Amino acid sequence: MQYQGKIYRPWPEANSLLIQTTLGCTHNKCTFCDMFREKRFRIRDIEDIFKDIDEAGSTMHRVESIFLIDGNVLALKTPFLVKILEKITATFPECAKISLYAGLNDLRRKGISNKWFIPQRL
Ligand code: SF4
Repeated sequence: MQYQGKIYRPWPEANSLLIQTTLGCTHNKCTFCDMFREKRFRIRDIEDIFKDIDEAGSTMHRVESIFLIDGNVLALKTPFLVKILEKITATFPECAKISLYAGLNDLRRKGISNKWFIPQRL
């Protein structure tokens, strides 16, 4: 796995596999936050992301939860993000949850597709 710079894991993701998809944060200006100050935002090459997923797939027995890092992964264009989601679900069919940090404006720009909508289990 190729993690670059400081990595932050929110506590609800304690058991999640972390896949670095972006570096840094698109905003990176909140005065109270220095999580990604050292990094300039960029999207990792999809080949490098896939390499990390393949490596995890060959070394980890069972992955039920994945957290895509760094900041604001939802800034990715939808087709790019879908390729990553499809790669994850093909590699880890047992994975029940994929989560990520998202900026509100990027969330609002996304459409809704039934393909990726899985109702929460109560
Ligand atoms: S990670 Fe979140 S809190 Fe930190 S600078 Fe980016 S938008 Fe602000």
